[in-house]
Amino acid sequence: MSILHRWLTPGHPELPVGKVVCVGRNYAAHALELGHAVPQRPILFMKPASAVVPLESPIDWPRAEGCCHFETELTLLIHRPLSHATPTEIRQAVAGLGIGLDLTLRDLQEQLKQAGHPWERAKAFDGAAPLSAFIPAEELSPWEPLQFSLDINGKRRQTGNTALMLFSFEKLLMEISQCFRLEPGDVVMTGTPQGVGPLDSGDALLLTLENRQFKTSVR
Ligand code: ZN
Repeated sequence: MSILHRWLTPGHPELPVGKVVCVGRNYAAHALELGHAVPQRPILFMKPASAVVPLESPIDWPRAEGCCHFETELTLLIHRPLSHATPTEIRQAVAGLGIGLDLTLRDLQEQLKQAGHPWERAKAFDGAAPLSAFIPAEELSPWEPLQFSLDINGKRRQTGNTALMLFSFEKLLMEISQCFRLEPGDVVMTGTPQGVGPLDSGDALLLTLENRQFKTSVR
């Protein structure tokens, strides 16, 4: 398990791995592919620090629980406390940007949803948040439109652009900081675009964020 977040370039402050606040249905096309309405307020849930693993580590999950879906998401690394934050505080609080997978045990999540139970078993298990090293905000601005994608075994599966988010990074952090105090080392996963699907043993994944590439695979 990671103890400190990793930077893509050296010389940036060390930050402990904190909680991961996740956003559901932040891209309209993804909400629709799962048969949901577009939300009026961000749908928020969390993964604990124990779910975080380096993106490059082989992906695994409790196989007895059924299929595990990939959800490719941009991630924001927070380095200043944020509570009921203003836009200025928000812009100063994002230290870096990365890409990660919001791994989801979809069969189990469907059972839990139908029973009206919380999602943690499906979303917060050990290894459920593979995160790339972070790119410092000075090198890649989180406040400009950003393009990202996922290829599996050489085939494009997901393409995202932050211009298509229902709630911008700024709006998300404003809303999140009303509910949960964000601490240095916390991460926000900002939602997945359409195209989610199950992972298989041996899959080779290539994630891109602008011109950066990150590789991983399924055990
Ligand atoms: Zn997600």
